[in-house]
Amino acid sequence: MIHTDLLICGAGPAGLCAAIEAGAAGADVLVLERGHAPGGQLVKQTHMFFGSEKQYASYRGFDISDILVAQMSEMPNIRLICDATVLAAYDDGVFAAEIAGKYEKIRPRATVVATGASEKPLLFPGNDLPGVYGAGAVQTLMNQYGIRPAGRVVMLGAGNIGLIVSYQLLQAGVDVLVVCDGAPKIGGYLVHASKLARMGVPIMTSHSVKRAEGEGKVEKVTLWELDKNWQGIAGTEKIFAADTLCVAVGLSPLSELLWQAGCEMLYVPALGGYVPYRDAQLSTSIPGIFVAGDVAGVEEASSAMVTGRLAGLAAAGFLGLDIIALEAKKEDCLAQLHSLRHGHGGKILDGIQQALLDTNNKGDEHA
Ligand SMILES: Cc1cc2nc3c(=O)[nH]c(=O)nc-3n(C[C@H](O)[C@H](O)[C@H](O)COP(=O)(O)OP(=O)(O)OC[C@H]3O[C@@H](n4cnc5c(N)ncnc54)[C@H](O)[C@@H]3O)c2cc1C
Repeated sequence: MIHTDLLICGAGPAGLCAAIEAGAAGADVLVLERGHAPGGQLVKQTHMFFGSEKQYASYRGFDISDILVAQMSEMPNIRLICDATVLAAYDDGVFAAEIAGKYEKIRPRATVVATGASEKPLLFPGNDLPGVYGAGAVQTLMNQYGIRPAGRVVMLGAGNIGLIVSYQLLQAGVDVLVVCDGAPKIGGYLVHASKLARMGVPIMTSHSVKRAEGEGKVEKVTLWELDKNWQGIAGTEKIFAADTLCVAVGLSPLSELLWQAGCEMLYVPALGGYVPYRDAQLSTSIPGIFVAGDVAGVEEASSAMVTGRLAGLAAAGFLGLDIIALEAKKEDCLAQLHSLRHGHGGKILDGIQQALLDTNNKGDEHA
């Protein structure tokens, strides 16, 4: 049995920031990351971030990851283990993990779950053909492993992921034929959409995929227009000779560990699916289990870093460490979150987060 003050599940921006804050407060921290390296989604993000200086605006994602890992490495009380998957959370407070091929049990005094999110699939005829990918998977293959997708690409989804990955495909010399989205408006930031428009990529709103076809792989993608009830309109089909269809229709929180631990959960579509109830300090309904980043509700790397810091501080407070010094830092995190959620359409998200907290405070029936 491994004993630690604080177990952090996942070393993306949220987990890294939680470790840095709790480590700085003096906690003995164990970070387990199922990938070969820390950084989560940041390592494949070659574009510059916006936000404020505190969230590393104007740095590229992979540089931010390096900065956070370097900060963490300076603290001897933080131990990071990669290729280590947290498999289970038991109701006696024990966690199980597969570390370097061995099954290990961990008994932490507190835990931050920062496991991120996974891509949502979409149902349509031909969605199981080779050549149909999640856009995030294409980004991983291309930016992390240097493998470009074949030939001509159709991108489904004009949110930030669809727009950013389309631009990165163009930068890698891949032909992006079209970006389409079922919604009547582009969901991602205008700055990303404008870059595509300048490079001559059409963005078709109120359009989705009708089917993908081909002999053993994608060869043809049919798009069609959607009516206001999101039903395809016969006669509006447009056929693209394509080799790859990328699907970027949203992320859902990787919340299995929270379900297993018995945390109370709520379905909030705007946050990506089932998310845990938590208080303003990111404590779930199970004392000692905190959440941060996309698993708490899909947002962005900037907010993942801030919620990570907040959860790390709250966990340190739960462990009885230097509460007075922690309070000022927590206030700063809450102010940063408020400002992040009020830019770029974040008002809605902030409203939902607030509703979640209000419901929590009222102690209503939970899912
Ligand atoms: C294509 C794409 C482009 C994006 N562009 C931007 C952008 O420009 N600006 C921005 O602010 N945000 C952007 N984001 C969003 C941002 O990357 C995420 O919001 C952010 O990475 C969330 O951080 P996180 O730490 O919660 O999760 P992740 O970064 O996903 O990290 C979670 C980590 O947990 C690990 N993990 C999961 N389960 C387990 C387990 N059971 N045991 C151990 N480890 C586990 C994973 O391997 C991963 O390393 C983008 C996201 C994508 C997919």
